[in-house]
Amino acid sequence: MGSLGISTTFTVGVLALQGAFNEHTQLLRSAAKFHPATQFTFLEVRTAAQLATCDALVIPGGESTTISLIAERCNLLEPLREFVKVQRKPTWGTCAGLILLAESANRTKAGGQELIGGLDVRVNRNHFGRQTESFQADLDLGFLAAEGGKAVPFRAIFIRAPIVETLLKASDGAQEDEAQKPETVIAPSKDVAEGIDPSIKRAPVEVLGTVPGRSAATKRQDGTTDNEAGDIVAVRQGNVFGTSFHPELTGDARIHAWWLGEVVKTMEARKSS
Ligand code: GLN
Repeated sequence: MGSLGISTTFTVGVLALQGAFNEHTQLLRSAAKFHPATQFTFLEVRTAAQLATCDALVIPGGESTTISLIAERCNLLEPLREFVKVQRKPTWGTCAGLILLAESANRTKAGGQELIGGLDVRVNRNHFGRQTESFQADLDLGFLAAEGGKAVPFRAIFIRAPIVETLLKASDGAQEDEAQKPETVIAPSKDVAEGIDPSIKRAPVEVLGTVPGRSAATKRQDGTTDNEAGDIVAVRQGNVFGTSFHPELTGDARIHAWWLGEVVKTMEARKSS
């Protein structure tokens, strides 16, 4: 095992303001069994004090406007931005959580939505349409494969799901160009120069999963389709991971188990540096 040994406990929070937080906590517990030598505490997070005890955080699916409104009322928005963008602790957003972690989101009324940011991407909210247009798809997720192998496809559930429609230039500040676009909101900049470990550079955005073939059926606003690449439904940028679908609504704990492994690796690397 890693240098920290069995005595280390990692506290993993699940933002519990609205949405599928309970399902995430259950699946995290199952996923922890894949890491028998590591101890985890799972915590529902509703206050800044609880957030401060966390090593990593999951932001669940639900309704991103509602989650951001409640977070604002609970004075959690700034602590969340600090957690993700300054402390750069491992954070995973699913569906509404992905929207909140994007630096830019379109199809959003001005003032209708606050973003946390952390992922230099623009998401298109509700890309796949309404609740009744929910669907499931088998995804080939390379990061779930054992070395040299191929993973069993992951049955992903999409409910009013966003997609990552554009990867933006990695920036440490606000995506000002994005703010000029109609119906687009951006996350406010965070002075990452302050309090951040300079050895942790802003990483590039990696595409970790796509849905093949959907883009042809759902033509983009600007008229382009991207049949080759498919629609981007899983991305990672340094400490931040986002999926448009809902692994927490399946019984398949593989993504949760993988992510917990990434959390442990990140925290161990930071402690030993
Ligand atoms: N599109 C929804 C939103 O804007 C997210 C849907 C979901 O999390 N299932 O928040």
